Amino acid sequence: MLRVENLAKTFDGEQLRRRAKKGTGTNRVFAVNGISFDVREGEMFTLLGPSGCGKTTTLRSIAGLEHPDSGVIEVDGRVLFEGRDGHKPHSVPANERKLGMVFQSYAIWPHMSVFNNVAFPLQVKKRGERPSKAKIAEQVHKVLATMELEELASRAATKLSGGQQQRLALARALVVEPSLLLLDEPLSNLDAKLRESLRYELKRLQRELGITSIYVTHDQTEALVLSNTVAVMKNGNIVQLGRPREIYENPNCRFVAEFIGTTNMLSGSVDAKDGQRYTVLTTDGPLRLDSVVDVPLNQEAVVSIRPEAVEVHLESRAGEVPNEWKGTVVNRAFLGEAVDHVIRVGEHEIRARGNPSVSIQPGTDVFVRMDPAKLTLVPVD
Ligand code: ATP
Repeated sequence: MLRVENLAKTFDGEQLRRRAKKGTGTNRVFAVNGISFDVREGEMFTLLGPSGCGKTTTLRSIAGLEHPDSGVIEVDGRVLFEGRDGHKPHSVPANERKLGMVFQSYAIWPHMSVFNNVAFPLQVKKRGERPSKAKIAEQVHKVLATMELEELASRAATKLSGGQQQRLALARALVVEPSLLLLDEPLSNLDAKLRESLRYELKRLQRELGITSIYVTHDQTEALVLSNTVAVMKNGNIVQLGRPREIYENPNCRFVAEFIGTTNMLSGSVDAKDGQRYTVLTTDGPLRLDSVVDVPLNQEAVVSIRPEAVEVHLESRAGEVPNEWKGTVVNRAFLGEAVDHVIRVGEHEIRARGNPSVSIQPGTDVFVRMDPAKLTLVPVD
């Protein structure tokens, strides 16, 4: 549905100066560093990464709001942009790309009613493409019903709550039946509770309408909940691309492991290896694990252990189970649906997440067990 190939975008000194808050240097800034990815029809594809990694520039390039230096952007077999350094690029203007967009600031038109906000993109279509008045009304009501805004159709747009305004912005983007929906941090202006409920609503809608979407966020939970595919970006590059579970369970580098969720990182070196079975020697003892990632013997490596993969016990079963370490609880936090314990083992502090019915006093000596199947070997960058 969407093909992005070798997309690159730099900003020069002048643009940098215009963006006063970003600095006044004259060096070119590589915002997007030759990235490639495909998005399948009906998929929710997320660009995830820290601030400044190039997510928005990628999205704006697809939208036609930014002129890339080079690369190819193709939607549904139609080339929207094609450029090579030194050649005049071929670029379809933004308003002819037939894409829907929703941005962080949802920018609804305040002087219009809910109905008119949604009808407007249809009313301003070129003669010949513009539907009849009756058809516009029909389309607007259909979208408003999907977004559960129909009862508010005649209300002034400013008299809506934040969540309703965001749904209105979505309705307005959807009414033109875009082939691709571009969403740039659309939930980030909302409070935590509303954000969470809209997250699920957005997922439901996306699935029901089957609309191909690209979602930009720096919020890893949002990315994991919403996406079919996640591309993790760093410094203008895609460092890992895969299904949310794959990325969470098998991060391919330290950056991804630390960026996606909480994790314990234990450094060591590969001490023994038999096929996919490894023993990694850390300063606090050996760790056995299974790994599909190949790391040579004696090589430095990091073991990533998610807190939920660490069990805390008061009794030892040393000799019967692998990866049992003795430690002391140094901290405890109640999270509602779970309890986190921080356990000091030698020079490591290991975070464990478990059932809230098991809550252990700080100062208690315990045994942590780490299931070899749940440990991930991460190559050192
Ligand atoms: P955020 O989450 O903060 O929006 P992002 O991942 O979307 O970040 P971009 O906005 O794409 O990142 O920015 C990528 C890089 O390009 C940054 O270093 C940024 O400062 C720079 N940049 C973006 N737009 C411009 C511009 N118009 N002029 C100069 N530099 C820019």
